[in-house]
Amino acid sequence: MQDYSHIPDNDYMLLTPGPLSTSKRVRAAMLKDLCTWDSDYNSVVQDVRQRLCSIANLSERYTTILMQGSGSFSVESVITTAFGKVGKLLILTNGEYGKRIAQIAQINHVCINIQENRIITPEIMNEALQDSTITHVVFVHCETTTGILNPLEELCRVVKTNNKVLIIDAMSSFGGIPIDIEKLEIDFLVSSANKCIQGVPGFGFIIAKRVSLEKLKDCAKSLCLDMYAQWECMEQNNGKWRFTSPTHIVHAFREALIELEEEGGILMRYKRYKQMQEILSQGMENLGYECYIAKSYHSPIITTFCYPNFKDFTFKGMYEYLKSNGFVIYPGKLSNADTFRIGNIGDLKVNDIERLLEFIKIYTDTISK
Ligand SMILES: *Cc1c(COP(=O)(O)O)cnc(C)c1O
Repeated sequence: MQDYSHIPDNDYMLLTPGPLSTSKRVRAAMLKDLCTWDSDYNSVVQDVRQRLCSIANLSERYTTILMQGSGSFSVESVITTAFGKVGKLLILTNGEYGKRIAQIAQINHVCINIQENRIITPEIMNEALQDSTITHVVFVHCETTTGILNPLEELCRVVKTNNKVLIIDAMSSFGGIPIDIEKLEIDFLVSSANKCIQGVPGFGFIIAKRVSLEKLKDCAKSLCLDMYAQWECMEQNNGKWRFTSPTHIVHAFREALIELEEEGGILMRYKRYKQMQEILSQGMENLGYECYIAKSYHSPIITTFCYPNFKDFTFKGMYEYLKSNGFVIYPGKLSNADTFRIGNIGDLKVNDIERLLEFIKIYTDTISK
C-alpha cells in the first residue's frame, strides 16, 4: 500500500462533471517532472494508449490519439481533420455541447436542434439521413448540459446502415458507461482526461478506427489540431507528441486508468455511478426538488434539478451553504428553465452522496417555504 499522507486533502468535493474529485494517488503522480521526449516518458504515453484500447475491449482495428487542451480541442481536432475537403456533416443536438460542435464545423453542415429534454431518436436520425449528400454524422452521447443520455446503439445502427462516417462526443460517458465501440463501428470517439476516467484536466483523446484515420493525411485545416499528424508522430516515434506534452497530466492519467482497472473496469464504474445517481435523484425528489428530464432518460453522470418554488430558495444560498460544508455543485445551463446540476462522477462513494443529501435537507429545512 502506497502512502499518500503527503498529499493534501481537497477543500471540498467537486460534484461537477470535470474537473472532478480525483484520488490522492492520481494527484501524487503529478509530483514528478518528466522529459517530454525521453523514452521513460514516451513509454508512459504508449502505455496509456494501450490501456485505453484495452479498457474499451478494442482489437488492432482501433488506435488512439492524445491531444493537448481541454475536451473541446479534441472535438475540434476530429471535426476539422476527419471532415476532409469535401462532404457534409450532420449534427444532431439536444444541448450546448452539440451546439458547440456546430460552431466548430462552421461550413457545410446541417444542424438539427432537438429540445433539451428530449432524446435524439432513431426516427429523427433516419429522416435526417434522407439527405444523401451527408457524409459524416456527429452527436453527443451524454449531453452534460442536462445529463440526458441519447440512445447510442440505436443511433449508431441507423448511421452505419446508411454508411456514414460516425463521430461520437463521448466526453462525459466514456469510462463511466460501457460502449462497444468496435461492434457499433464508431469511426472516431472523443473523450478527455478529466471526466469518467477520473484524471485531471489538460488533454483529450480520440479513439479512432484505423482505416478511417489512415485516409486523413494532409486533410486538417489546423496545424496544431491535426489529428492525423499527431497520430503519425506518436506511432512513428513510440509515444512522442509533436509539441510540448502535458507530462504531469499524462502521468496522473495513467494512474487513473490503473485505478479504473482495479475498480473492475468500466462496467463496475458504471454500476457505482448509477447507484449514486439513483440515490441522488430519489433523495432530491423526496426533499421537493424536481428533476428536469424524465427519469428514463437520465444518465448516471449528472442530474439537472429545477429551482423549487420555496419562497426563500436561491441557488447562490444553497451553493454557499453546501460549499461551506464541503461540496461544490454546478449551475444550470438552460435558457428556458431555472435549474442547477449535481454531478456524481469522480472519486466519490455512495456515502458522500448520502452526506450531501443530509446537508441539502438541512438547507431546505431552514429556508422558508
Ligand atoms: C466536458 C465536455 C466537453 C468538453 O468541454 P471542455 O470544456 O472543452 O473540456 C464536450 N462535450 C461534452 C458532452 C462534455 O461533457
